Amino acid sequence: MLEDKNQERTSLSELGEFGLIDHLTKHFKIHHKSTVVSVGDDAAVLKFPKSQVIVTTDLLVEGVHFDLSYVPLKHLGYKAVMANLSDVYAMNAEATQITVSIAVSNRFPLEALEELYAGIQTACTNYKVDLIGGDTTSSNVGLVISVTAIGHAAPKKIAKRSTAKVGDLLVVTGDIGAAYMGLQILEREKAVFKVNPNNQPDLEQYSYLIERQLKPEARKDVRGILESLEVQPTSMIDISDGLSSEVLHICKNSGVGCNLYEDKIPLDPQVISSCEEFELDSTTIALSGGEDYELLFTISQDDFPKIKANPNFSIIGHMTEEKEGIHLITRADTKIPLVARGWNALQKED
Ligand code: ADP
Ligand code: MG
Repeated sequence: MLEDKNQERTSLSELGEFGLIDHLTKHFKIHHKSTVVSVGDDAAVLKFPKSQVIVTTDLLVEGVHFDLSYVPLKHLGYKAVMANLSDVYAMNAEATQITVSIAVSNRFPLEALEELYAGIQTACTNYKVDLIGGDTTSSNVGLVISVTAIGHAAPKKIAKRSTAKVGDLLVVTGDIGAAYMGLQILEREKAVFKVNPNNQPDLEQYSYLIERQLKPEARKDVRGILESLEVQPTSMIDISDGLSSEVLHICKNSGVGCNLYEDKIPLDPQVISSCEEFELDSTTIALSGGEDYELLFTISQDDFPKIKANPNFSIIGHMTEEKEGIHLITRADTKIPLVARGWNALQKED
């Protein structure tokens, strides 16, 4: 995991706005020819001669989307970038640039912003994206971060939510539910962190869950894997709010129904054991947990042989006629309607 060190406190007013922007952005490298003009002018200039351009943005507000008492700023920076890159990858596109805008109150010293930008820079390096601009302003409440990601793809490669067909197979990458269980662990340990920040609780047995919550990885690799398998997804979405909500989005936008098989949902052993410990149903967590940043997509049945043995993918269902509805087929072989319950809804209940 990323380390957090935050001892010194330099007031932001010592640098001034331009000094601050320069200080935070000067170590970022440019990876792409498509970045023509980057940080430092009135606006950035990009060039994509052959492809269509993808743009997505997210706004994160302290106390609403993150809690700094257990999310280190470095991780927050990394995760804010991941959430946006994931949306670009969910279009089956390559992510190439980001902008980052921040509003900060004077309770944050320079060192805190250095941590935030260290996480952003790690994400830019690992995922080969260029930081091309942003905005910096003061806030009298808390920290606000907005990331915009830009990407591109050949028009025929772009995968929307609205183009799944009846008979298509529903496929998910990786495993799901771990990020939500990581949050449960962190919330339980929050009191301990607060009393004594130096007292490291033994979280070894939950390491995967916490990593998935604090340092999620967007699926940059999936586009290349599908290309090498010669599979063009018929629709795609990223799993930010929970599997059921994303299945419902694809179904609604595409005008199809779905049968989702409970026993096919990929779960990590740590999700299963922690669900037992917290007396939670692991299927409910997978369906409603969220923040996994895996990809959910549909493929034509003809492509089944190309996908079936691939360890990156699990086939979890198939698309039906819209009038057949959207159902979970349980292990006991009963059919229950799938309902949208994002992880926010789930939190309110406990
Ligand atoms: P303007 O006055 O035109 O809004 P700014 O002074 O806000 O310009 O920004 C100067 C340059 O620094 C621009 O290229 C802008 O995109 C970039 N920039 C500003 N804030 C940030 C930030 N938080 N992260 C990255 N780049 C930034
Ligand atoms: Mg500005």
